[in-house]
Amino acid sequence: MFIAHIPAGYLATNLLVRKQENRRGLLAVGLLCSVLPDFDLLWFYLVDNRQTVHHEYLFHMPLFWISLALAAWFIAWIAGLKEMRSYIVVALVSVLLHLLLDSFAAEIYWLRPFSDVHLNLIEVPARFGWWVWNFIFHWTFAAELAIVAAAAIVWWRRTNGTSAN
Ligand SMILES: [Zn+2]
Repeated sequence: MFIAHIPAGYLATNLLVRKQENRRGLLAVGLLCSVLPDFDLLWFYLVDNRQTVHHEYLFHMPLFWISLALAAWFIAWIAGLKEMRSYIVVALVSVLLHLLLDSFAAEIYWLRPFSDVHLNLIEVPARFGWWVWNFIFHWTFAAELAIVAAAAIVWWRRTNGTSAN
């Protein structure tokens, strides 16, 4: 997935928080978390010198995020911070959606460290010198554009008041 993570995160978060009072804050968390796993690209470029596929890093391991969310939920429960629950749910859903979308054309290890099982249904071949063209000229980019268009329509309807959301 190349350009549709944030639009997909927007669509999912919008569905989750449509009836919440703190919608803006939750939406901000959802958008940030929809790209949070790819922050490991900083490590990939700045520290690891591009030695490891970034999907192998901790930030692309679903069980890491699920464990973190459970820990956060537990702390919020102990501290009596009920309002934090919706933020934790939105954050986890957005991160897992990112990893699910990555799973179609990349190796995401859903059960690591316990198993190396992964989906990777679609191969995006390296046909061009600049890796970005490999994504743009692959048919999956049409699906990404559809997600972007859907998010743009929902956003436009919300901001123009034509939706009952
Ligand atoms: Zn990713």
